[in-house]
Amino acid sequence: MHPTESREITFNACYIKGKHDLSISPKKLEYNPAEEVLVKISRGGICGSDIHYFQHGGVGDFLLKHPMVLGHEVIGTTEDPDTGQQVHVAVNPSRPCNACAFCLSGNSNLCLHMRFFGSAMLTPHVDGGFAEYVAVRPDQCVPYDGQKDDSIMAFCEPLAVAIHALNQAGNVLGKKILVTGSGPIGALIIAACRTAGAAEIIATDPVGKNRDLALTMGADRAYAPDDSVLAGFTDKKGYFDASFEASGAIPAIQANIDYTKAGGTMIQVGMSPGMADIPVTRFLAKEIRYAGAFRFKDEFITAVQWLEKGLIDPGPLLTRVFDYRDIVEAITYAADKTQAFKVQISFDE
Ligand SMILES: [Zn+2]
Ligand SMILES: [Zn+2]
Repeated sequence: MHPTESREITFNACYIKGKHDLSISPKKLEYNPAEEVLVKISRGGICGSDIHYFQHGGVGDFLLKHPMVLGHEVIGTTEDPDTGQQVHVAVNPSRPCNACAFCLSGNSNLCLHMRFFGSAMLTPHVDGGFAEYVAVRPDQCVPYDGQKDDSIMAFCEPLAVAIHALNQAGNVLGKKILVTGSGPIGALIIAACRTAGAAEIIATDPVGKNRDLALTMGADRAYAPDDSVLAGFTDKKGYFDASFEASGAIPAIQANIDYTKAGGTMIQVGMSPGMADIPVTRFLAKEIRYAGAFRFKDEFITAVQWLEKGLIDPGPLLTRVFDYRDIVEAITYAADKTQAFKVQISFDE
């Protein structure tokens, strides 16, 4: 076959068509093997944004205008064009343009023309990875040796988010860290801070099972946000060198201004549609740096390496695995935060 000739393949994909309208339908994909790699998907993790599309038919301002394949946390296998061998790959769901001012300055996560898996930001929408196959640019595939189980490697995308948040805070070696919100991202930030050498990690979460998860993932102590013990961290201009706000709860943002030490850093990674009132004078008088953390750039490669080498074990976060054909059951289960941390779907036969 001529290398530039496009190919066509039809397979099953999980299409979100609107609020509570999710089903398996065939997808016909045309791709160019000279420019794109065909990946056979083996496992995918369900993320909060996937649940949001299912429950609301959109995320924030991005409403579904036509059916879209869901999902952005996927891994699979591809055929090495030279050897014909199967290669395990983590699929980076980001497809930055690599040409805009942000891409060229090394901030591809801020790309003006980002095409991110399973996102209705652009119209037509960008299809996601909950499908038997995806075709992606070669630079979106990060190979790994395949020793670790799929259930572990499928955490590469949320772990990349956590490691990017860590990078936004700078060096955490020997530092005191606060993580507010201990869902999957908060828990992975705790583990990443531990791996990066943080001296002390305190977690907060209103839910008991999330606090237990925080401890399992490496927190020294975990408290409910209204625990009176926390007041002690406001003394002497605050206690923590860096705080990671992973809940999106407005009161947590306000409290972190008091808990974070003067001259310290606050990282916002939890999303919120809300507006936060900031105590301006207290904030500036403590010279706190407040930075956002959005998705990731080359931290995706670091995440794959950390998982492959066992530097982080995300195992405790995995609640259940469903066959992809049971996607509705899987996402309904994942949406129930009283039982689920991370739910995955399997594409294995
Ligand atoms: Zn995600
Ligand atoms: Zn760009």
